[in-house]
Amino acid sequence: MPRLSRRSFLAASAALAVRPAAGAGAATSAEADVVIVGAGAAGIAAARRIAAAGRKFVLLEAADHIGGRCITDMDTFGLPYDRGAHWIHTPDLNPVTKLVPHHGIEVYPAPASQKVRIGRRYAREGELEDFLASQARATRAIADAARKADMACAQALPNDLGDWRPAVEFVLGPFGCGKELAQVSAVDFAKSAERNADAFCRQGFGALIASLAKGIAVKLSTPATAIDTRRNVTVETPKGTIAARAAIVTVSTNAIASGGIKFTPELASRQRDAFAKLSLGSYDHIALEIADNALGFESDDLVFEKAAGSRTAAMLANVSGTQLCLVEVAGAFGRDLAAQGEAAMVDFAADWLVGLYGADVKKAIRRSHATRWNHEPLALGAFSVAAPGWQGARRILMEPVQGAVWFAGEAVHETLWGTVGGAWESGQRAADAVLRRLGGQKEPAPAELEATRKRLPNRQRRRFQATPNITRDEPR
Ligand SMILES: Cc1cc2nc3c(=O)[nH]c(=O)nc-3n(C[C@H](O)[C@H](O)[C@H](O)COP(=O)(O)OP(=O)(O)OC[C@H]3O[C@@H](n4cnc5c(N)ncnc54)[C@H](O)[C@@H]3O)c2cc1C
Repeated sequence: MPRLSRRSFLAASAALAVRPAAGAGAATSAEADVVIVGAGAAGIAAARRIAAAGRKFVLLEAADHIGGRCITDMDTFGLPYDRGAHWIHTPDLNPVTKLVPHHGIEVYPAPASQKVRIGRRYAREGELEDFLASQARATRAIADAARKADMACAQALPNDLGDWRPAVEFVLGPFGCGKELAQVSAVDFAKSAERNADAFCRQGFGALIASLAKGIAVKLSTPATAIDTRRNVTVETPKGTIAARAAIVTVSTNAIASGGIKFTPELASRQRDAFAKLSLGSYDHIALEIADNALGFESDDLVFEKAAGSRTAAMLANVSGTQLCLVEVAGAFGRDLAAQGEAAMVDFAADWLVGLYGADVKKAIRRSHATRWNHEPLALGAFSVAAPGWQGARRILMEPVQGAVWFAGEAVHETLWGTVGGAWESGQRAADAVLRRLGGQKEPAPAELEATRKRLPNRQRRRFQATPNITRDEPR
């Protein structure tokens, strides 16, 4: 099967990178008001905010393309293939959906229902109700437990989930959080905003985010290697040192914890612990092109199985009406499988489908590809989730370092962690805090966020308003 070489992927990705000669607010010298590290969703959102305030920034990106964990690959299948984020969660509230450009980008609602396979047949209505009721009971039990103490979600699960237990554990754990429920903080889980309604972007979620970076200058292939805050801020890169008054760092928790950027003075131990306890889970797409709609799916059908154990997956079929099907593997099983390499992942996906639909499916599989996010050196995993007892780590990362460095990114959001929307909002909030520090912006909360709050249903609004000031200004 033709596979994507790194070279062709990078070439395809570079086509997405928007880098006009002189982007809005971009500093041309080695001095800037703000250095932003990382051009994923959080970095792009921060750069847009800083540019809108008329401040000079330098946006550094280690890769030779923008988007980070939200990138659309047009090369492998000749159609939009989101290698990272694909679901636009709660589109009515998602900060990126209201910014969608009018031309060339189409966002449409995801089907509301899911299918469940029991062996070689679909679950009947009563069985589906049992599955959904088991999920609802498990979710409620975790929320109840979280009100008392921050324990592992697994500890809070009801004992009577019966033979739906493995499927419920997969949906709430690996599929939802990238980790097994034993490794997930009940408070983190309970605080995460409901993600019931979803949307998709026909051109790819990565293409949507790239379209929002239009006019923003990015220094590609320029990793930050060291950040010194002893006197203002200096950021070292292999292409030179940049002096600034503040920095916004949007690099993933695992990439920071692995020591990719040297901080001087060293980060405090509570910050280092926070990065370690918000480690990224494992989540990968095994993308299969299935010819002639051999399995009779509708566009964007989401299929789970009534699993007998943790060796399971989910499938998003006929992505945006195409032949592309994504078999989703996650958690410990997905991590171990991805460690065996792409061929093993594709073999698993094909065998899994044979188990659910019969041997003929193999004949219909054409091209394939599998992501391996744990092995991407600039991410080192999929998305963050707090270890039991460590939900508070997200607030620790909201505190500025030496009054000069702000962290942003999906991990730095209490309710939308693990999502593009959360990364976007955290980038905006960090930018607002920096602008206040630079004297460029008056309080209070950004207008976009206010608009979001007004549209929140009561229950979610309560949660949202309970979120404290995300970035706290502290005197230097
Ligand atoms: C397989 C997968 C599926 C997902 N599915 C969904 C989904 O359906 N919906 C959803 O909302 N979210 C999903 N997510 C999560 C979502 O992709 C992330 O939450 C979001 O994209 C993170 O954005 P970010 O800006 O915080 O970080 P990133 O996107 O990781 O951006 C950080 C940037 O920093 C760069 N960088 C790293 N080190 C350096 C350095 N030293 N110097 C300069 N630059 C550096 C990186 O290259 C990267 O571009 C998924 C993630 C994965 C991996």
